[in-house]
Amino acid sequence: MPLHKKILIALVLGLFFGIVANLFNWNPWIKDYIQPVGIAFIRLLKMIVVPLVFASLLVGTASLNDLRKLGRMASKAMIFYLCTTAIAISLGLLLANIFKPGSIIESSQKSTVIKAVGNYPSEELIQPQSEPNIVNTLLNIIPENPLESLSKGNMLQIIFFALTLGISLTLIPGKHSKPVIELMDGINQAMMKIVVLIMKLAPYGVFALMTAVFSEFGFGIIPSLFSYTMVVFLGLVIHASVTYSLALKFFVGYSLRRFFRGIKSAQIFAFSSSSSSATLPVTMRICQENLGVSKEVSSFVLPLGTTINMDGTALYQGVAAYFIAQVSGLTLTLGDQITIVLTATLASIGTAGVPGVGLIMLILVLEAIGLNESSISQGIALILGVDRLLDMCRTVVNVTGDCSCAILVNSTEENLENNSNK
Ligand code: ASP
Repeated sequence: MPLHKKILIALVLGLFFGIVANLFNWNPWIKDYIQPVGIAFIRLLKMIVVPLVFASLLVGTASLNDLRKLGRMASKAMIFYLCTTAIAISLGLLLANIFKPGSIIESSQKSTVIKAVGNYPSEELIQPQSEPNIVNTLLNIIPENPLESLSKGNMLQIIFFALTLGISLTLIPGKHSKPVIELMDGINQAMMKIVVLIMKLAPYGVFALMTAVFSEFGFGIIPSLFSYTMVVFLGLVIHASVTYSLALKFFVGYSLRRFFRGIKSAQIFAFSSSSSSATLPVTMRICQENLGVSKEVSSFVLPLGTTINMDGTALYQGVAAYFIAQVSGLTLTLGDQITIVLTATLASIGTAGVPGVGLIMLILVLEAIGLNESSISQGIALILGVDRLLDMCRTVVNVTGDCSCAILVNSTEENLENNSNK
């Protein structure tokens, strides 16, 4: 049986087993014996993210024979990421305006839901956030100490350093640059081998992760938040199936069958881990092996996308902001909704793809539309109960967006090269 089928079966079994465990209250047992397997699996993936990104990007940049290509790839990726993020939030807001998910919830239900929420993500994280500032965001890309960036896994700083080092390697004599590039190439290849080995463990890891999440999940909350959950879910499905399909078909005529078949494993990893950053090694592998994206493009576009491209998160923020505003009795004007689009787009830049981060960025958005502190904390508490489930779904869309951008950049670069060779 092919590996991706085994992983899919593990996902479904884990989901059912988790639900049964929740019904029979087996949580403590699951926590002690099954959850550690899932945690070990995620840690294995995270272990290779930094060396993989650094080594592959360095080798990719150092072997570029035309530095202008780097500039072109960066601009195309940035334009794609920013446009699709803005489309995603607008879609979320449009659906929220149509379905008005907050109008159904009553105040008695509100307090029941708030009381019932679990502790995901931890409450100390939900503090008032400071406004996103473009200058600081840009300044923060330049590392003061690259070793610190590597040890902390600060993705934008790692990208910046790898690019600078890669470019400078092309500018010094080959006798000095060659050993460095060969060493990094060896590391890169070994990291890719580790991804293949970890993938073999994926059925166990995915089963454990799904069981752990669903055995803890408070299903009782879903009916009260049903319309909110459904609006987010509908938006995510539309964005993943329509927006990216249109972009791929319209701009580069890419086969959608190949796309959706090829990205399955990355989507399953994203769903079970809720982290586009932990999924990155798998995303890089499937882009190179199933989708035909070159190493050069995937090693640059995907780490960048994991950090700055979060369409699923942005869409969810649009709906959540509308929902919380409605429940708090605030009617959003068109101006407020434009503020949501701008703030959520900006807030998504430079935020790592880890579980629950979308909820934290949502606080910025809520502050920007003028909600007071108590409405914000009540609103966040209200949606917290279904956040893990929505996080899993939005992470799938985040990863799908990264892959479609990689294909778009790759295909346009290939076309350019073919034309100039004619
Ligand atoms: N978990 C998401 C990701 O890793 C981010 C979020 O929406 O919280 O892409």
